[in-house]
Amino acid sequence: MRVFVAMVSHETNTFSTIPTDRGQFEARDLRYGGEILEAYRGTGTCLGGMLAVAAQRDLTLVPSVAASASPAGRVSKDIYQEVKDRLLDDLGQAGALDGVLLDLHGAMVPEGLEDGEGDLLAAVRSVVGPDLPVVVTLDLHANVTTTMARHATLLHGYKTYPHVDMAERGQEAATRLVDVVEGRLQPTVALRQPPLLPPLAGQLTARGPMRRLYDLATEMEKRPGVISVSIFAGFPLADIHDAGLSVYVATHADQALAGACADQLVETGWKHHHEFVHRALPVGEAVAHALATAGEGRPVVLADIADNTGGGAAGDTTEVLREVLRVGARGTTVACLWDPHAVQTCLRAGVGATVTLPVGGKIDPRHGAPVTVTGRVRTLSDGRFLHKGPMFRGLEGRLGPTVVLDVDDVKIILISHRWQTLDPEMIRFVGIDPLAERLLVVKSTIHYRAAFEPLAHAIVEVDAPGLSSSNLARFDFTRVRRPIFPLDDL
Ligand SMILES: [Zn+2]
Repeated sequence: MRVFVAMVSHETNTFSTIPTDRGQFEARDLRYGGEILEAYRGTGTCLGGMLAVAAQRDLTLVPSVAASASPAGRVSKDIYQEVKDRLLDDLGQAGALDGVLLDLHGAMVPEGLEDGEGDLLAAVRSVVGPDLPVVVTLDLHANVTTTMARHATLLHGYKTYPHVDMAERGQEAATRLVDVVEGRLQPTVALRQPPLLPPLAGQLTARGPMRRLYDLATEMEKRPGVISVSIFAGFPLADIHDAGLSVYVATHADQALAGACADQLVETGWKHHHEFVHRALPVGEAVAHALATAGEGRPVVLADIADNTGGGAAGDTTEVLREVLRVGARGTTVACLWDPHAVQTCLRAGVGATVTLPVGGKIDPRHGAPVTVTGRVRTLSDGRFLHKGPMFRGLEGRLGPTVVLDVDDVKIILISHRWQTLDPEMIRFVGIDPLAERLLVVKSTIHYRAAFEPLAHAIVEVDAPGLSSSNLARFDFTRVRRPIFPLDDL
């Protein structure tokens, strides 16, 4: 069986002023052909899962492109077109294929388009024709559109946030593709888009409304004829018509069953829609509470949920850092602050040097100004580390030139490439033992929980300014369909 495989992944925060250009993809991932297989084999990613099944089932893979960039503003026209053209060219030249496996995100907004994945899937469909199975994995944050659902044979959304099931979803997608190719499954699907725009911090799947929905979905998946159920929480900060929660049910040759399951899930979700609203503590209160809670042996994790680069925020806001310095919170690590300029200043000064410089706050003045600090350059690094997981386990992380600046025992990890603090390795690899700290400031909304909850004494969420804020009243939405909760009081 010959299967075409590609990955195109971007979560676009349309409120971000950082363009996602070619350089942003090069900094994360832009690979072609066989190199993809080498990079992703054995990793905790969708591609990793697809490759594992391909090896077990003896599929012949035709690898095309793997392109991903850190979440930020709209994907520039040039790089989107380049990746799309390459993928379509490869597809056209692939020869006889039995199926297509795509690892996509679902919230990509290229310049001049709203629905990046819909555009890509429509183009793929136009090359392969109406009958070739095209099976796709999507992030839980996908803003799923009818165009995506129409052109894909099956969509498989992550079922967890933090996303710890990416490899599993990749395996599932590849297995189902084989089932479709070999004639055991004839997918019929239903998509529903209730008027719900859940903020990121209200989307965790360990408890709350998403847990309730996934418990019901798990029960449904046991019913005869149900292939899979995906509840997409959606990505609220891509301000497009179709942003928000969606329900996608795939059944075997039973359209009515798919529709009935989808309707039941929507009804259940809507019954509890007020539970999606999330509240965190203001900065001063959060830092005071974290310090009052801090003990010996295990750190308190202070989650700067609004400055999550994984949600398209800059990763350089300073309000929490400013407060931590103001109260003199020794034994603190701030992981991480994106400031390539400050990194260069520290590199020039060298290890052991004392420097005075402004850090952070350089991208977006609405979310806080730089903080001028005087500190000692503690360590320098090339920023390469290996994710230990659960997320991205085995995948290399590239933070670019990285510096630890020690300001009266507040250790600021300054990085050159934006990346969410989702793995304690991002602290360990620069020589800091996270367990020896009293306070860890992490810039992440939910993903940090997968690896930091087990080592944290307590977790405190901060409502600081930032482009991944779960306080949606901070944003000026213009494109998303209205009315929609919680922007409108439904
Ligand atoms: Zn996601």
